[in-house]
Order: sequence, then structure tokens, then C-alpha cells
Amino acid sequence: MKKRLLEIVQSILCKSLIISCLVPTLLGGANSCSPQNTLFEDGESSYTIVLDSQATEIERYAALELQTWLEQVSGVRIPITAEAPAGNRLILETEDRQGRDDSFVYFTEGADIHFRGNGPRGTLYAVYAFLENELDCRWYSLKVSVAPHKDSWRFGKLRCQEAPGIRIRDNCYLDPRTQPVFSARLRNNFVRIPSPDGTGTIPGSAEGYWGVHALGTHVPVGKYFSTHPEYFCLRDGKRYGGYGQPCLSNPEVLQITIESVRKIMREQPDFLIYSVEQNDNQLFCQCDACEALAEQYGGQSGVMIWFVNQVADAVRDEFPDKFIGTFAYQYTRHAPKNIQPRENVVVRLCSIECCMWHGYDECEQNLAFLKDLEDWGTLAPHLYIWDYVTDFAQYCLPVANWKTLQPHIQDFRDNHAIGILEEGDYQTVSCELREMRTWLLSKLMWNPDADVDALIRDFTDGYYGPAGRYIRDYLDLEERILRRPGVHGNCYVHPSDTMFTLEFIREGRAIFAQAKEAVADNQTLYDRVETAEMPLCFLQMVKNPLQGFREQADELVRRVVEREGMNRLAEGVWAGGTMTAKDLLADYDRIRKEIEKSELMPAMAANPTKKGVRFTRYEGNFMSTEEMLRKGKVVEQGTMEEIAIDTRPEADHFGYVFEGWLEATEEGLYQFRITSDDGTVLLMDGKRVLELDGSHSPETGFCYLLLEKGFHHLELRYFEDCEGQILSVRLTGPDGKETDLCLTI
Ligand SMILES: [Zn+2]
Ligand SMILES: [Zn+2]
Repeated sequence: MKKRLLEIVQSILCKSLIISCLVPTLLGGANSCSPQNTLFEDGESSYTIVLDSQATEIERYAALELQTWLEQVSGVRIPITAEAPAGNRLILETEDRQGRDDSFVYFTEGADIHFRGNGPRGTLYAVYAFLENELDCRWYSLKVSVAPHKDSWRFGKLRCQEAPGIRIRDNCYLDPRTQPVFSARLRNNFVRIPSPDGTGTIPGSAEGYWGVHALGTHVPVGKYFSTHPEYFCLRDGKRYGGYGQPCLSNPEVLQITIESVRKIMREQPDFLIYSVEQNDNQLFCQCDACEALAEQYGGQSGVMIWFVNQVADAVRDEFPDKFIGTFAYQYTRHAPKNIQPRENVVVRLCSIECCMWHGYDECEQNLAFLKDLEDWGTLAPHLYIWDYVTDFAQYCLPVANWKTLQPHIQDFRDNHAIGILEEGDYQTVSCELREMRTWLLSKLMWNPDADVDALIRDFTDGYYGPAGRYIRDYLDLEERILRRPGVHGNCYVHPSDTMFTLEFIREGRAIFAQAKEAVADNQTLYDRVETAEMPLCFLQMVKNPLQGFREQADELVRRVVEREGMNRLAEGVWAGGTMTAKDLLADYDRIRKEIEKSELMPAMAANPTKKGVRFTRYEGNFMSTEEMLRKGKVVEQGTMEEIAIDTRPEADHFGYVFEGWLEATEEGLYQFRITSDDGTVLLMDGKRVLELDGSHSPETGFCYLLLEKGFHHLELRYFEDCEGQILSVRLTGPDGKETDLCLTI
């Protein structure tokens, strides 16, 4: 009875990687009921790894991986042979070599352990699952693998069966995209494994996606435009010879595309899906025939599916198990009408417009995408999702999507996604907690129903050691402060965004102070924790440089970017963040010099009697504060409690001059942070110290003044041109605390 129970429990728990590892603890030792078999003991083993003589390259690779990691754990190198008598064998076998689903089972038969998978990689994944579940091995990151040494390992009955939730798992972070061995250990299957002899890649080991935006490859404008302008889009009455879209209704364009796709499929047969995807622009053809197709099939996506279906029909007989891929992206994102993608067409739907922080059904910014996902999911036999999971404007920014990675992937699966591309910082290594994001996404693409909290606990404790619990506290902080009601995050949030409050930075750094304390005696773990803290320090230097310098945020950023090689910090200059670490550090140097060169401003004789500011209100059309003073009409003068502008949305074309006394309660450096829309000029003791003049949307500027204890005369000139208006002045004194500006008159 007990044995049967163990079997059932193991079979259930095996579905979840992490809980499976707990089986030994839960049941008082993995094999307390039947630990009759010993795989190794005191550096010796009677086992052999058995591979039949017909073994494929991927099976041989799986045997080498098993041998390597077992040796790490046990200290004994178990031989690989073609045959061995029953009883002490680790048998690698492939159920269906033509299989494409990577499913597997490992199980015991007497004292033998079978690792049995479907092609292309099931047997290899059976090995990895065994090493993870039974021997507690982990591949947390490219540099950090865990293979805990054991003196001995005994086992009773084992059985673990798994199949992937998502068939093509493309983890588009730098390491899994460029490091095939590591990528395979995470069961991502977009990149090929190099063959162990270094001569090539292991055939059949990847199910990738050939090409992207490939219509331009199939029908190159440079090759055809001079002789056949009619192949290309009609825009404003003229055929366009730049980077646009082909004219899809032209029958010769279809034939050229079919020939090109067929040639590529013959020459590069290892891929599963071949791109016939729109070029990366929105210049679709507006000729009469294309417009008529759009009318007939419910928009541009209908024209695209009509075209791609014909390509798919043309190659189906020769390539019955392959797919033609196309985009549902920007102008083709909505599903078409009166037409359905063929069985051998895959539609790659892109989530670029979405809020990453919320589920698709719980955020108004995602409802339109959810409708498109469900429409396509109903219509298309297969979807492939291009999903965005990091911040491309500034890779290192905190992204509070830990709770939505799973429901998003589940939604993709439930709408027939056969593949997912999770686009992260594929160019660099500067993304927030990138190792954990990479690992977690791999686990979730394999098993969309995995226990996320257990996975995060596993990673944080395994990768950060005693600091792990504080990393979880930091994730809770993100959840509490960043994902507060009404705050959303798409994949282009900027560092200046008000969602990143000083409170978030302060609380976050306090958590990291505890985390560093917990690993103070272990430099390796300490460095990992520092890397995890870098996003907060980066933000602190953006939001409050004076405080950042005081708390050595700049030094931590400098250490981390140099140690990790974070040279690139954003996807492109167009995204608006700081592009390179070099630019960032140069900026810190510039600010530090500005602070150092500030000269002491003597206090002035003054005897203010009450809190408040004097103001003069102007009206008129100005493009600068100078112009306001020169030609503005004074409409009101008086005093008010504190600096405040007319914030009624309909109010335009006005301005103010505010004046009052600022009391420096101690001698020291004071930072002024002003955000204004439109222009502002700050004067201190009659000297212009900060200029954000001119007509513009909200801009933030800083100045640093060394003030003698006592009163200083402050004058702030502000004008509003048109549209929105903002004026915020925040002061950070020598005590490091940021407050509102408080003036007296
Ligand atoms: Zn056309
Ligand atoms: Zn949202």
C-alpha cells in the first residue's frame, strides 16, 4: 500500500518540478519504502549508461550530459556502452525519432532506469528532468550551475512523464538566444546544440522559425523595382520603391514568393516554420485590387492571409509537416473576416502595444489585444506569439510583470499557440533580474501551469543564498508600489516616469541593505545581490542625484556595469533612454563636477514674518519667460501659501513670477528638482541657477547650490504656452530628505 501511494504521489508531484524534489523530504527519504537500488556510493557505481549502436547524435549528446552531471554529483564517471546485462543500466532510448513534441518519461524497471523520449529532444530532456528532480541539479544561469555533491544516492520506483505546454520555446534573452548548450538545459528549443566534436550542430535538434519580416527577402525591391514597379505598394497614386510592402494582389508577386520559399525550404530543411511576413513598416498597397481584397476579407490581415494561404497550398505536398508563418502585427493585428488561415499556416501575433503588468482580461489597455488573441485563436489552427517582457526604452528598469508572465502564457496556450518568442534584452545583459527572468520564462513555456511562487523561491534561494528571502521581499515591494491601482507598464516605460517614486527607491534600497548584510561573507553572492540592486541605484541617480551620490548609488552602478559588461542599456536611441554605460557614467561625472564647482552663496539679511510667496500673474502668448516679462500683461498680484499655478485644463497662455525667502537651516548642498511644462527659470539671490525655458512638454532639471545658513532670495519665473501645464519644485537639503519647497515673505 505504501509503495503504491509513493508511486501515485510521485506521479502527481512530478508534474511540478520543484515539488517533485521535495518528495524525499515529504516522505522521509525518497525511497524509504524501497531504497533497494544504489546508483552510486563513496565514489563508486556499478551502473553503465546504455546507448544502442544506432543511437542518434542527440541521444549520444544526452548520454554525455548524463555522464557529466552524474560525475559532478557523485565523483564517479559512469561508462557509456552499447550493451550491458539487465540490472544496473541507465538506458537512453527514443520512442519516436520522427516525433516533434519533445515529450518524455523516465522510469524504473527493476534496478534499471529508462530515459525515453520523443524526437527531437525528448530523451535529452528526460535526462535533465531526472537530474533536476532526483539529484537537485539546477542550471540557474549561464555561469551558475548547481550539482550538489552526494556521497550516495539510492532509489526505489521512479516514474516522471512530461510534455511541453508550448511546442517552440524561444527565450529571447541574450544567453538562451546565443548559448545553445545552456539554452537546451532550460529546455528552450530555438537554437541548435553544437555537436560535441565542434564540427557543426546536432541535426534535428531545433524546431526554429526561419526568417522575420521576410517578404522583403522573397521579393527584394532592389532586384525588381526598376523593371517591375507594379510588384510594390501603390501609395498616394505612385508605386513606392523604398522600404514598403509588396503588392500582394499581383499574381507574379505570389509566384516569386512561392519559388523563393520553396528554395529556402529545400536548402534549409531543419526549420519548422518559414516566414512570409510583412516588412517592418505600415506601407501596405492601396491599389484597387488590394483594396478590393481588404474589403472582401475584413481588412489588411485578410489580404495577408489570402496571399499566405496560396503560398501554403503551393508547398504543402512537398513539405507536409512544415508551416508557413505570417504576422498579425500593427496594421494586420485584427483578425480577418470571410477567410481562415490554412492548417499549415502559423499566425505570429505581436503583443507590443500591451500593458505587461496586468492580465489581458484585467487591464483596459489589453482588452483589444485579448479580443484579437481570441479572434485569431478561434480562426487560426495555430498561433505563434511574439511577446514583450522587458523594458526596451531602458533595459534595467524594474518591470513588475512577475505575476503576469504565467497568465499571459496560459492565454497563449489556450488560444492554440504552438510557439512563443519571449523578447527580453536580447542585445545585452542589463535587464533587471535577467537570470531569474530567463530561468522562469523557460520553466513556464515548458509548463504553463507550474507553481510560480515555488519556482521563484527555488531560484532566489538557489541563486542568492541567504539573500534570497530579501529578493522575494523586493518582488513584493514591486507588486505593492509599482503595480498599484491605475498604474500600467508597457514595454517602453521611461526612467523619468512618476511610477518610480522615491518611496519605492528608498524601501527597495533598505531591503537590499539587509540582503547584502545576509551575504556579507560571500563575495560571489554579494556581487549577485549588487547586480540585482543596480536598477534601484540607476533610478535613484535619475530621480535624486544628490541623494544617490550620498548613498553611493553611482558607485554601485559603476561597479555592476563594469563587472557584468553591461555596455548597452537600451534597445535603440529611438527608445529614449540612456543608450550606453559610457554615456551614463559620463553623465554622473558631469553632475559630480557641477556639484563640486558650486560656490558658497552667502545668506542675505531678511526678516520674513510668515509662510507664503508673492506672485505676479501675466497673460499673453509667449515662447519664453523673457518674452513674458517683456510683453506679458500683468493681470494680478498678491500672495499665496505656496507656489501654485493655474491647473485648469482649459487655461492657456499665462505665466507667473513667484518670489519669497528660502531658509537654509544649515550650511550645505541643496538640490532643486524642477519639473515644468512649459518653461521655467529659477533665480537664487538674483543669480540664474536653473533654466528649463521655452515651450515644451514636461521636462525635469536639477541644480545644486551650496547655501550659507540663513535666508536666500528665491525667484521662479514660469509660463504656460498651450495644452497641459505642470510646475513642481522639490528640494533636497543636506539631510538627504526631499521635501516640497517652503518659502516665507
Ligand atoms: Zn496592390
Ligand atoms: Zn495594465
